[in-house]
Amino acid sequence: MTSTYSTDIVIFGGGVAGLWLLNRLRSNGFHAILLEADTLGGGQTIASQGIIHGGLKYALSGSFSAAAQAIAGMPARWRACLQGEGDIDLRGCRLRSENYYMWSQAGFRSRLKTFLGSKSLRGRVEAVDKSAYPEFFKRATAAGTLYQLPDFVIDTESLLAELIRKQENHIYRIDARSLAFYKNNAGDIDHLTVSNGDHSLRIESQQFVFCAGEGNEGLVSRAGLLKPRSQIRPLHMVYVKRPELPALYVHCIGGSFSLTPRLTITSHAAADGSMVWYLGGELAEAGINRSAADQVAAATALLRELFPWLHLGDAQWGCFTINRAEAKLDSKFRPDDALFIEEANVLVAWPTKLSLAPSLADKLIEHLAAKSITAIAEDNTVELDKVLAQPKIATALWN
Ligand SMILES: Cc1cc2nc3c(=O)[nH]c(=O)nc-3n(C[C@H](O)[C@H](O)[C@H](O)COP(=O)(O)OP(=O)(O)OC[C@H]3O[C@@H](n4cnc5c(N)ncnc54)[C@H](O)[C@@H]3O)c2cc1C
Repeated sequence: MTSTYSTDIVIFGGGVAGLWLLNRLRSNGFHAILLEADTLGGGQTIASQGIIHGGLKYALSGSFSAAAQAIAGMPARWRACLQGEGDIDLRGCRLRSENYYMWSQAGFRSRLKTFLGSKSLRGRVEAVDKSAYPEFFKRATAAGTLYQLPDFVIDTESLLAELIRKQENHIYRIDARSLAFYKNNAGDIDHLTVSNGDHSLRIESQQFVFCAGEGNEGLVSRAGLLKPRSQIRPLHMVYVKRPELPALYVHCIGGSFSLTPRLTITSHAAADGSMVWYLGGELAEAGINRSAADQVAAATALLRELFPWLHLGDAQWGCFTINRAEAKLDSKFRPDDALFIEEANVLVAWPTKLSLAPSLADKLIEHLAAKSITAIAEDNTVELDKVLAQPKIATALWN
């Protein structure tokens, strides 16, 4: 048996990009649904460190390009949402830390000072007065300097819950293997079909948006598109759990002051109440070919080197690999802003960073307005509800 459903916009992928866009489109009056192949947020979003970047990236690029300005504006955009005054009401999203720091070991101090001076960063990256150091750095037995950045850290599980809260009736789980796209003579997608085994569903829509992270590539090929190309960057992330760990939110930079710090630490609460340090940065990029045991050994050695006063005792360690998915640019550079590529009536989109999800939604909505796409469909989901269930929400990878 086949049922038919029509809508204005179908979004694929329920990570931060798709969910943010769904909220924005629906509050702008569009009839939109989101189709998720697995768990909501279960790709990069739940694996992210939750840092709302702004300052450091802007600072390190040292430029006033549009991309640099877009990311520099993100902390304020997110803060407005967290206070219920932005595009989306995120008052229920928990902040893990108001502050984010950068720790530079003593040996790099004079070079760092010159570097910060040369990029006119005053006011964006502030050296913290020793009297205001967080407790952990007050106990430092190795010399170094602590800087405060305008970034902050959100809790991604509560972010997902907030983004889903008002949209539950417009989000559906699909079996991606059953998905087929059908084109019209103009080369646009006319409709798609999905099935749950017994019952199949035909979904017609004006516009389709792929926000499926790593899954975009499969969707692009299934839809027979040629233009949108993506790339993945694998990371080998590590976590360490111990009830006594202090909360720590810091980039540890080395002598090269590159965009990828040697170690990026965020702190999270595990379901059993333990503190979790989640470790990324260069450790995760460089460790991609290491075995789990070697990656944990590398992380232990790095923490010992950076924080000789830290006692990890009987901490529990874990690690996993996860791919970052981004648009593939023609140049050798990685994208530094949210991006979408259009082919026929499909927009294939990547936020590039969690922080840039608001910017991606702005760009997509501006594009739809420029194409004069307006709401025309009815919003009757009875047929959808008969065939498709709701997806579950992802939980943190250390629980
Ligand atoms: C380890 C790590 C740490 C990071 N830390 C930060 C950070 O601190 N700050 C920051 O700003 N950014 C960070 N990022 C980047 C950020 O997480 C991503 O840019 C962002 O989460 C991407 O969101 P997304 O919605 O595009 O993709 P995802 O979160 O990957 O979501 C894609 C969704 O699509 C679904 N899907 C896949 N295939 C299909 C299909 N065929 N049909 C339907 N659905 C499908 C998946 O199941 C998934 O739910 C980090 C990334 C990683 C990997």
